[in-house]
Amino acid sequence: MEIKTIPCNREISLRKECLDIIDTMNDNGYECYLVGGCVRDILLDIEPQDYDFCTNARPEEITKLFERTIPTGVKYGTVTIVIGRNTYEMTTYRAESEYQDSRHPNSIEFLSSLKEDLMRRDFTINAIAYHPHEGFLSLEDSTGNDIKEGIICCVGDPKMRFMEDSIRILRALRFSLRYGFDIEDKTFRYMKLFAPLLLNISKERLYKELKEILDNEAFLTNLNEYLDILNPLFPFLNITELKKINYRFKKDTKLAEFYDSNRFLINLSLLLSNTDLTHVKNKEEENIVKFNLQCAVLDRLKLKKIERNRIESILRYMWLNHYEVDVNEELDNLQETLRQLRVILRITGYETAMCLLVLLEIMNSNSTGNYYMIADFLYMIQNASDRCVYIQDLCINGNDVKKYGYEGRKIKETLNDILNAIYEGKISNEKMSIYAWLEKNRPDNEY
Ligand code: ATP
Ligand code: MG
Repeated sequence: MEIKTIPCNREISLRKECLDIIDTMNDNGYECYLVGGCVRDILLDIEPQDYDFCTNARPEEITKLFERTIPTGVKYGTVTIVIGRNTYEMTTYRAESEYQDSRHPNSIEFLSSLKEDLMRRDFTINAIAYHPHEGFLSLEDSTGNDIKEGIICCVGDPKMRFMEDSIRILRALRFSLRYGFDIEDKTFRYMKLFAPLLLNISKERLYKELKEILDNEAFLTNLNEYLDILNPLFPFLNITELKKINYRFKKDTKLAEFYDSNRFLINLSLLLSNTDLTHVKNKEEENIVKFNLQCAVLDRLKLKKIERNRIESILRYMWLNHYEVDVNEELDNLQETLRQLRVILRITGYETAMCLLVLLEIMNSNSTGNYYMIADFLYMIQNASDRCVYIQDLCINGNDVKKYGYEGRKIKETLNDILNAIYEGKISNEKMSIYAWLEKNRPDNEY
């Protein structure tokens, strides 16, 4: 396989720092090209997030040519060059990818050709090099048109490439969602076939890829196509139920806004809560099996602590069926609705309550749209200046309650009773009103 030039009739204007790096390397007799994601993005006319270079120089040779460098991964041939506030990665041509599943190769073989370096890369859209004088260079057997036509296709034999490193399956999905690209037939077939290999991938790598996939705005509308690939990671996925979902939120609503900034956790909860456990006979047992399964799946991802806590509380409330809002209820019964909303807020907190609402909306997409209204109310209550949802919002505290003869566990219970009395409109969140209630309900009054 040889290297060929891809025609490009557009003027490419490259950052001066990139041109200087290439000049420095060439002036010292080394080859040097921009490569990977940044070249793909340049061809797509998108501002690259970062710039990677490849070269035939060894790490110790690269280090000598630049004032400030960081030995990021010298063992694998990567040196970071620091210029002003920017950093650039320069990697010596090699055949191995950086990772082989969760195992790093102990030693890697540095090679002297750009061709072999391009051949180790995952997809044809990521296997293009650029040099200001030589233009865009790709492998001969890749069409070179994949970027123009929007196709994701493995470099070489997909079977081998996914066996070598199965994270590429999720990378393909990620690029397809990010750029709206199609996946080439054979590549897609092997993605499905080898999806079970994803179970060998480390928590960190799985998290990174899944996070971007589930956070993509096109995820929900394309869910259908990916279920087979996600299935091994999410055992007992209820494919039939999920295949019905093809959901778009009404624009400019609180629900849509909330979904947009919490897509990852909501989509993850969606996959975790739609399980088909019909083989488990006993209903109670089903809940336990389901919760254990959900936790086992979550254990495979290196979630941030705050994400793990949030998702567990979403699943807990779905699981316990605590969440009971009558969506068909007429909203002229406003007082009752508000009371229920306050209880939901108090038990689950605003974020969890909103996540639950969004999930209900997605799963009952032919409902009458009351979830949108409920979300507006939740937002209003949460942001009202006279908000009284949580114990902290009360204008009195535990010490005040103590003075009326309450002790220990009873203090917190009484604070909750006061909140309920406020929800029910019996008293208001004012000291005099609450004191009167406390006086009337003194524990010793019971005798
Ligand atoms: P992004 O814009 O998300 O950073 P990227 O293509 O730059 O996308 P990186 O993970 O930064 O992705 O990897 C840089 C390059 O390294 C890729 O473009 C690809 O050529 C190569 N690469 C990365 N991971 C793999 C892999 N698992 N197998 C083969 N090549 C890989
Ligand atoms: Mg990158």
